[in-house]
Amino acid sequence: MRILVTGGAGFLGSHICERLLANADEVICVDNFFTGSRRNIHHLLPNLDFELIRHDVTFPLFLEVDRIFNMACPASPIHYQHDPVQTTKTSVLGAINMLGMAKRLKIPVLQASTSEVYGDPEVHPQNESYWGRVNPIGPRSCYDEGKRCAETLFFDYHHQHGIAIKVARIFNTYGPRMRPDDGRVVSNFIVQALRNQPITIYGDGSQSRSFCYVDDLVDGLIRLMDSPATVTGPINLGRDEEFTVGELAEIIKDITGSRSEIRTLPLPTDDPRQRRPDISTASTTLGWKPVTPLRKGLERTIAYFEASMKTEERVNLAARA
Ligand code: NAD
Ligand code: UDP
Repeated sequence: MRILVTGGAGFLGSHICERLLANADEVICVDNFFTGSRRNIHHLLPNLDFELIRHDVTFPLFLEVDRIFNMACPASPIHYQHDPVQTTKTSVLGAINMLGMAKRLKIPVLQASTSEVYGDPEVHPQNESYWGRVNPIGPRSCYDEGKRCAETLFFDYHHQHGIAIKVARIFNTYGPRMRPDDGRVVSNFIVQALRNQPITIYGDGSQSRSFCYVDDLVDGLIRLMDSPATVTGPINLGRDEEFTVGELAEIIKDITGSRSEIRTLPLPTDDPRQRRPDISTASTTLGWKPVTPLRKGLERTIAYFEASMKTEERVNLAARA
């Protein structure tokens, strides 16, 4: 099959491209490189089944493909808040353009939605029938409301035009190929710990998240795409084990043996207090459950950051010589 992955040069997108190529599919990766990088996919470029297109999904695109993974959108708060209007456009116009392509070609399309559609939730753990508690005019709204509107569009195209849709609500996912300056908690803490710099905890660190390793998440997304047309979602994908941000900092310090001190900084506006997915739908419908324990996933991610920081040091030394 020929499969389009928008945002394919990003953290999750690059892992999806890799997995699809390993499954002997052809992949077209579309990205505008806002947060993605050619480095994430440079090892795929020699593969004749892989094609890279620089394109912004807010503009129409005409391709001939069999399936679409719509992953394009910055996911880290610092990046999606950098240009909030563009973030909403990416979710909304990007969804319209990909749904239009799916309608023309009569093909399935998967949307990378998010646990952020639940906002700062009053229901815990969050299941798919919960409507969420989202501020429509706060700093996170460009992302949260953009993703909510994209879900609306997906279901309206499904009801109105019979498009085969797959809506995944992805919870916090981490792993190799996150950017060192990504700004999300796992990459921030790992980079800070490896540099023995202060670990920045926002607020008192009692807020919680549930962290899923990237390989597990990609497995869930591919199972969802391969599921029968009757399975539309929305479907939670994430690891149903919860840690406070303070606990995460201690685990990362322990694995790295870091001398970093903890530095407390103000909690960002509208930062959700707690988050854990109810994944019973994914388990019964897709037979999916994440298998990588947090510590194991963190060890792999830390090894990745250690290696890329060493390469960066060597490049800097060579440039200075
Ligand atoms: P990322 O920032 O690493 O990847 C996003 C990719 O989309 C980047 O390559 C970026 O350059 C590209 N992009 C952004 N705007 C674009 C545009 N207008 N046109 C074309 N390309 C564009 O983030 P990620 O963590 O890989 O997230 C991928 C998707 O998964 C996003 O849609 C995100 O909302 C969703 N998601 C991720 C998580 C997570 O924990 N990683 C959680 C929930 C949802
Ligand atoms: N966080 C933190 N220090 C950091 C980065 C993030 O304490 O250096 C906190 C953040 O306030 C939030 C949690 O970690 O409570 C997860 O943040 P992230 O940006 O990774 O994801 P999201 O808030 O979108 O779940």
